[in-house]
Amino acid sequence: MLSSVSPNPAARSVAADLILVDQPDPTQRFDCDCMTPPAQFAPPLEIENDCRWPALPPALRALSPGAYTHPRGAHVGPLPRGFHLVHSPEATTGPAVLGDAAFARWQRFRAPAALRDEMDRQLAALALLQPLATTPALCAGAPDTLTAWLHVTNACNLDCPYCYVRKSSARMSEATGQQAVAAVFANAARHGFRAVKLKYAGGEASLHFALVRRLHDFAARLSAESGIQLYETLLTNGVHLRPDDADWLAEQRVRVMISLDGVGEVHNALRPLRNRAGFDTFAAVAHTVDHLLLTRAIRPAVNMVVTGRNAHGAADVARWAILARGLPTTFTFYRPNLLSRDRAELQLEEAALRRGMLTAYDAIENDLPAWPFTGGLLDRVSTEARTHACGVGQNYLVITHTGALSQCPMHLGQPVADDLQGDLLATAAAGPLLNLPVEQKTGCRDCTFRHRCAGGCPLETFRATGRWDVQSPNCGLYRALLPAVLRLEGLRLMKVNGYLQ
Ligand code: SF4
Ligand code: SF4
Repeated sequence: MLSSVSPNPAARSVAADLILVDQPDPTQRFDCDCMTPPAQFAPPLEIENDCRWPALPPALRALSPGAYTHPRGAHVGPLPRGFHLVHSPEATTGPAVLGDAAFARWQRFRAPAALRDEMDRQLAALALLQPLATTPALCAGAPDTLTAWLHVTNACNLDCPYCYVRKSSARMSEATGQQAVAAVFANAARHGFRAVKLKYAGGEASLHFALVRRLHDFAARLSAESGIQLYETLLTNGVHLRPDDADWLAEQRVRVMISLDGVGEVHNALRPLRNRAGFDTFAAVAHTVDHLLLTRAIRPAVNMVVTGRNAHGAADVARWAILARGLPTTFTFYRPNLLSRDRAELQLEEAALRRGMLTAYDAIENDLPAWPFTGGLLDRVSTEARTHACGVGQNYLVITHTGALSQCPMHLGQPVADDLQGDLLATAAAGPLLNLPVEQKTGCRDCTFRHRCAGGCPLETFRATGRWDVQSPNCGLYRALLPAVLRLEGLRLMKVNGYLQ
């Protein structure tokens, strides 16, 4: 008995043969060894992330004759009521939750054996079992969305210590913005992308809301003409939004991602107003979320930058954003940059960070939501499969306020082209920042979590090690925390299927 996720609040008795997994129609089978997305796949609620490579769509693995065994590096953990969590490094889905009988059946395959019945075939289709003597490989997949970060302005009303933008009053002109949007659509058409996602960013993009509106109008026109779907997100610190801006965001269905680095004074200390000490920026963010966005049915994504100064506040952010308001939330680990690298107090102290995140996970477990919230709980790591840490060189463009092309928002000052002519993806892919697939990173190849972590931010790895082809300097944290995130996803699957109150 295999159950995909379908909300059911009634607590059920335990079915020992149960396999719970967050994925679509289990009856579909695919002929390719590669993971092929089901045609009717509906993506889950999106966890907004600055730059993460999109997850591979969930898919079932084609079956082959012969003996099967456990995938190398499978991760197993206990869950309440006799359930067991099993994570396969080769699965495109999140972890699976197995009832007692299903788990006992899975354990039988410690010694290679042939698939006997439907339960065995379900375990194999979910990549929880691996054909003997094959070398599994996940295809990189072809992302269908071209994402472009539009750096609308260098200006910002806040003065955050970890910011990588050298502040000035310089901003994007409307002509440059239109050239940028046109170039993004032209490159999307050239490479066969189905959709374009524009991220209006800065500095603080809402300081130039009139420009954002005009660029949206222009992009919407190009979208209608080209048939390429348009998605947009405003990245904002949430301090400056006005009611008519919020009306417009709701009308135009532009998403919002808002920064929140703590609750109350923890946030205020890290995100002070420029030239106005003591201003309660947290109160301003809370007002924006509660009175401007949620009241207009805009459910903003929240991002916390976790530093050595605020890791202890992660649980408060989880309670405020995830538990009290149901907001998709990402916890992004601080990355030193040219402007912040001397700020020792921001550095991640591994034990403190681990403590802070585990406290946040405990808080979530005590009031577990049923909606899919786990994708952003651990930096760039996700519960779904991916081959690259981010979209650099693949489906990601960063356009500066002067109309130059960069590979990454943290490389705004090191563009790879001064204009937007030609094949921008090819130009970005040829730049100095190497975004290697996880299989090419020494130390990651055999890691249980390689397709969830993908080796971490390549820029951070290079900063710390001088190499692109090794694991992240945050590897120890990822390995320590990911089991707790997978456990939360397992508990969520139990809850949404009615096996946990
Ligand atoms: S960085 Fe560490 S946790 Fe991530 S894939 Fe590499 S070895 Fe695994
Ligand atoms: S290099 Fe790092 S910061 Fe830059 S886009 Fe990739 S993950 Fe994001």
